[in-house]
Amino acid sequence: MNNEEELKKIKDEILGCNKCSLRKLRDENNYFPVIGQGNHNADILFIGEAPGKNEAKTGVPFCGASGRILDELLISVGIKREDVYVTNILKDRPPNNRDPEGPEIELCIPYLRSQIELIKPKVICTLGRYSMEVVMKHFGLADKLETIGKMHGKEFEKDGIKILPLYHPAVAVYNGNMKETLKSDFQTLKKYMK
Ligand code: URA
Repeated sequence: MNNEEELKKIKDEILGCNKCSLRKLRDENNYFPVIGQGNHNADILFIGEAPGKNEAKTGVPFCGASGRILDELLISVGIKREDVYVTNILKDRPPNNRDPEGPEIELCIPYLRSQIELIKPKVICTLGRYSMEVVMKHFGLADKLETIGKMHGKEFEKDGIKILPLYHPAVAVYNGNMKETLKSDFQTLKKYMK
């Protein structure tokens, strides 16, 4: 199977996934799982936490207020959304935007692992503390974990892949200072542009 077929297979698996209780919420609310969107050979992979309501209603990651900030940040460094890939730790929306729970992450993370293996990004940008913690642990870098205040904008490396923790764009929706911090951290991505 080629990359496209493998990614399509993951999509089908997620569509049929029944492994945790978030599936019930998906069905009851006519939500979509949010699989991911963008370039299947992207050098830059963004990983958020979990779909919000807008995302679950459309199946598109980061399409609400946080998504508008993400777009603005990408534009600030001249990167097009279609050139990167955007996904989340959890593919289904947790109720009332609560944090993902441990067992949900464990059941969902194999999908993310496969996406990373197939897309083969040069850099993984984690969006928010939750994604940072899950991804750093997943890559065996738990010993490097500190607060996001200390880690944001610093690159880490494992097996040839860079990991760049970033604040979640939602923090900048009402806070201009945080937007400037994010903009400054996004400058790091310029070197990954083709
Ligand atoms: N927040 C996230 O973490 N992911 C989304 O897709 C939208 C908002």
